[in-house]
Amino acid sequence: MSLTDLIDIAYLIAAILFITGLKKLQSPGTARDGNRLAAVGMFVAVAATLFQGELLTPAEMIAGIVIGSGIGAILAKRVQMTGMPELVAAFNGFGGIASFGVAGAEIAKIMTLAGAATGEPAFDVTSAVTIAVSLLIGMITFTGSFVAFGKLSGKISGNPISFPGMRLFTVLMFSGAIFGAGYMVWGAGGFPAAADPVVQGAILVGITAFILGILLVIPIGGADMPVVVALLNSYSGLAAAATGFVLNNTALIVSGALVGASGLILTNIMCVAMNRSLLNVLLGGFGGDSDDSEAGPVQSFEGKSVQSTSPDDTAILLSYAQKVIIVPGYGMAVAQAQHAVRELADELDKRGIEVKFAVHPVAGRMPGHMNVLLAEANVSYDKLFEMDEINGEFESCDVALVIGANDVVNPAARHDKTSPIYGMPILNVDQAATSIVLKRSMRPGYAGIQNELFFNGNNRMLFGDAKESITAIVAEIKLL
Ligand code: NDP
Repeated sequence: MSLTDLIDIAYLIAAILFITGLKKLQSPGTARDGNRLAAVGMFVAVAATLFQGELLTPAEMIAGIVIGSGIGAILAKRVQMTGMPELVAAFNGFGGIASFGVAGAEIAKIMTLAGAATGEPAFDVTSAVTIAVSLLIGMITFTGSFVAFGKLSGKISGNPISFPGMRLFTVLMFSGAIFGAGYMVWGAGGFPAAADPVVQGAILVGITAFILGILLVIPIGGADMPVVVALLNSYSGLAAAATGFVLNNTALIVSGALVGASGLILTNIMCVAMNRSLLNVLLGGFGGDSDDSEAGPVQSFEGKSVQSTSPDDTAILLSYAQKVIIVPGYGMAVAQAQHAVRELADELDKRGIEVKFAVHPVAGRMPGHMNVLLAEANVSYDKLFEMDEINGEFESCDVALVIGANDVVNPAARHDKTSPIYGMPILNVDQAATSIVLKRSMRPGYAGIQNELFFNGNNRMLFGDAKESITAIVAEIKLL
């Protein structure tokens, strides 16, 4: 068996591991195993590629693996759960620039070879097309992802940014990129192929794509960034797949296609759960940083006023309940209250009170945000229920405890056609006998609108940091 056969078999094994890993990510119970399988697949693919080209010495390979794994391990340990979307954004950006770099190196390599064998056409049309696609998507993904990273980490304003004539400028840049790509292909088609148009076209593609990536992401509000990150993730996969064609590397084509397709599916799931079209997200202007003007003391709404409660009263109410549904949201992540919440659920459980968790698909700031946090706090998976499974149970529950969730429990989504979240599926917290909302103020959530639920007669607000409130409730329950 030749080395090429062995490498092909290694690529096949890697592809099987990627697909099995992806399948296992479907459920929180198997997600960790899925992640490990996919990581092993990536190791096999990288090792096989390095042997294929005999590109590096074994010592260089080991050094690369140790340095790369070390950086990955440190990042994984250090990054807070709330910082995960920006880490993913940075990873996508690096993926994009890697694809761009490989495509650029391929141009240099073909030109060097052409210099040695004069009279041969330097570029064929197919490689010029794949190189152009790789350059274009790779660079857009790079700058777009780093703008998303800046917005998510607060280094750039989360507010939508635009300027007069921006759409026209974007169209101009896009036309420039297409012209550059066309010029590359035209240059490659001539016999003998002309290297100059290919290089000049590639430079034009690089510059216009750099600006395009920025222009496409700055008009989008910070709160929509997770959707954009999922989309950029898909782009980074497409760029990798295009690079796979450039290098004629099967593993890269397969893994790029998997990332491209899964990123698109995820983008779609998020848009459906927010009842917004992708175009509406990409055109921007929704959400953004909330400023202090929104934090005003809104104590009444449509003639109804807010009723607040204390940790002690909440503890008494909970200890007399038979069934409690906990609804976590972004605020639980901000407060890092997941461990305190698990302790509360355990205390109630000990007293024979049925406790379930209701998880909305877009609760938090990234898909699966709540599942990951609750899993980290060792809440058992069989207590976690998706919206469709649990929505019918709110009617029969005594207390719905909303921990730092806002938009995903706003009844206006059901009936108020003028509301920006109209049509978004929500958790039916308003149908519980009593609902208690834990948050720090009357400030709105991500959608920037007031929540009707807070003003319902059977709702109480427990103001304060979610972790502090839950800790106080647990302490009181233990005394009862
Ligand atoms: P929201 O952003 O609607 O509300 C979170 C609430 O948490 C705020 O009202 C805030 O109120 C409160 N909060 C913040 N910090 C704390 C704290 N330390 N203690 C207690 N409360 C706190 O979050 P939801 O999870 O309900 O909804 C998610 C929103 O994000 C949806 O609108 C969704 O469409 C959007 N989104 C989600 C994505 C995803 O992938 N999951 C992607 C893109 C958008 P206060 O400041 O008063 O404390």
